[in-house]
Amino acid sequence: MKKIALKSVTLQAEGACMSKKDILIEGGRFARICESLSPQDLDGAEVVDCSRFAILPAFYNGHTHAAMTLVRGYADDMELGRWLTQYIWPFEAKLTAGDIEIGSRLAVLEMIKSGTVFFADMYWHREQTMKVVEEMGVRAAIGVTISDLLSSPEVLEQNFEFLKNHTGESERVKLVVMPHSVYAVGNQVLKRCVEVARSEGYLIHTHLSETLKEVNDCKEKYGCSPVEFWDKLGGLNERFIAAHCVHFSDEDVRLFAGAGATAVLNPCSNLKLSSGIPPIPALMAGGVKLALGTDGASSNNNLDMHEEMKLAALLAKVSASAETLPAGEALKMATVNVARAYGLCDAGEIREGALADALLVDLDNERMVPCHDLVSNWVYSGDSSCIDSVICNGQFVMRGRHVDGEEEIKEAARACAKRLANA
Ligand SMILES: [Zn+2]
Repeated sequence: MKKIALKSVTLQAEGACMSKKDILIEGGRFARICESLSPQDLDGAEVVDCSRFAILPAFYNGHTHAAMTLVRGYADDMELGRWLTQYIWPFEAKLTAGDIEIGSRLAVLEMIKSGTVFFADMYWHREQTMKVVEEMGVRAAIGVTISDLLSSPEVLEQNFEFLKNHTGESERVKLVVMPHSVYAVGNQVLKRCVEVARSEGYLIHTHLSETLKEVNDCKEKYGCSPVEFWDKLGGLNERFIAAHCVHFSDEDVRLFAGAGATAVLNPCSNLKLSSGIPPIPALMAGGVKLALGTDGASSNNNLDMHEEMKLAALLAKVSASAETLPAGEALKMATVNVARAYGLCDAGEIREGALADALLVDLDNERMVPCHDLVSNWVYSGDSSCIDSVICNGQFVMRGRHVDGEEEIKEAARACAKRLANA
């Protein structure tokens, strides 16, 4: 693995205090952060002049459906139920393993170009997505997606078998048990998910309380809210990560926070599907661990974590006060909080010893000028166009805004989406 020396890069410590440092990246980690690297540190390293750049933690996307990039813009401007049953599920039924590989590759390209190096993926044909993640140099929590509404009993059994064998896990790829939701998975299968996760040491990730309809249907069917239902199943604990969490009662907040579970909010998707606004101030006040994700490109319609981060901060403020969710906290929700939820305990921060996942942000970009406060500029003013380079696991995955093979990736996705739409 190549040793990299970042010379004279701007770094923000606590508060608004900024300084220029040298950073040595070795063995996939930030080996040294200091005033000036020694000749011994620089020996054998590629030296990169970073006097124009700031270093910031790369984004971690806590919830997405990567290959849904192929469905981007296919069906918009309708509510969740109709959108899923009349458009998305019939389109998805046509997807082959090869299509999913093409869609995942486009998703990873888009994520890299917008500064994301990790994503939690809930989808089908996981082997293809795992292959793309390995090839493109990023990280992922790949879901073994469980749904007895959307898959045959044979596929369900194959999924549980896959989990038992821990197939295809690696340094950058982890498997996670991903039952779709309480409305797409029955009681007995959810119980099995909880048992498998417990016995094999897996995390559980699911959609939770996304719409009022989901909550009301659950109450009718099981006599309790989706959060209470997961609690009764014994699945609610610090290894439980739920997407959306829009419609939580006070009791849901109390149970969820008490269990140490993480809520991955997806505000863009919730607004676009008119599902509601995640109650960020109430979740924060109740002590719920908060992270962010984009959801799929069919409901967002992009995979840009920066947009998600800024929107979360703005929604928190309009729901409470201007002091709610300051820039630094919003940045943590899009980086270190996601990393911790998915078991990457030494990632998502720029500090010695941490995994070297980072962005080089161009301080000469007009959006970053002037720079009174780097984090504030980044959260409220910056966007993808400010990102010059992206580092994952100590290696450049984008440099000077270029990602290897990007033209071919886009061309394959265009052809694939066109074929599917006309099939
Ligand atoms: Zn989702």
